[in-house]
Amino acid sequence: SGNKRLEEVKSLVSAHPDFPKKGVLFRNIFPVLRDVHGFKTLCDLIVEHIKSTSPDVELIVGLDSRGFLFGPIIAQLLGIGFAPVRKSGKLPGETYKVSYKLEYGEDSFEIEKSSIKQDQKILIIDDLIATGGSMKAACELVEKAGGNILQCFVVIELNCLNGRDKVNKPVHSLLTY
Ligand code: AMP
Repeated sequence: SGNKRLEEVKSLVSAHPDFPKKGVLFRNIFPVLRDVHGFKTLCDLIVEHIKSTSPDVELIVGLDSRGFLFGPIIAQLLGIGFAPVRKSGKLPGETYKVSYKLEYGEDSFEIEKSSIKQDQKILIIDDLIATGGSMKAACELVEKAGGNILQCFVVIELNCLNGRDKVNKPVHSLLTY
C-alpha cells in the first residue's frame, strides 16, 4: 500500500541535530538513495504522484543541488526533459537571474534562457522545503523564463516553518515532519 511504502522511505531518512549549525535539525535523504529498494520505492511514489496530479507536465525543473538527485531520473521515467536551476555563476550562455534573502545576506539563482518554452507546463522539484525561500525564488525564475508552473514538489516538508505559505503555487510533499 501507499502508506507502507511511505513508511519504508521515511524510515531511511536520518535526522541530525545541530547540523549544519546549532538549532537546525537536518533531514538527510542520502540513506534513501543508498538503499536500492528504498530509492526505487521513492521514485515509484513520486512518479505515481505526478501522473495522478499533473499528468500533462512537460518539463521537470530541479533545484541546486539535491533537486538534481531526483529531477533527471523522474523526468526520464515520465518521458520528459529536465532543466536545472543553479546558484548563480554556474550556467553558461544567456540566463535569467533572481535574488533572494537568506537568514544572513542574499543569494541568487539562475536558469538558462533556452531551457523553458513559452507557457511550457513545469513541475519544480527539490528534496525539502523549509522556509520556502528557495522554492519561492525558483518559481519567480521559472515564470520569468515563460514557464507555467503546475506544482512544486518536495520529498520532505518541514511543517512548522510554513514554507508553503510563502509559495503562491500548489506545493505537494510526500513526507512531513
Ligand atoms: P528553504 O529555502 O528554507 O525552504 O530551504 C530549502 C533548501 O535548504 C533545500 O534545498 C534543502 O535541501 C535545504 N534545507 C533547509 N533546511 C533543511 C533541513 N532541516 N534538512 C535538510 N535540508 C535542509
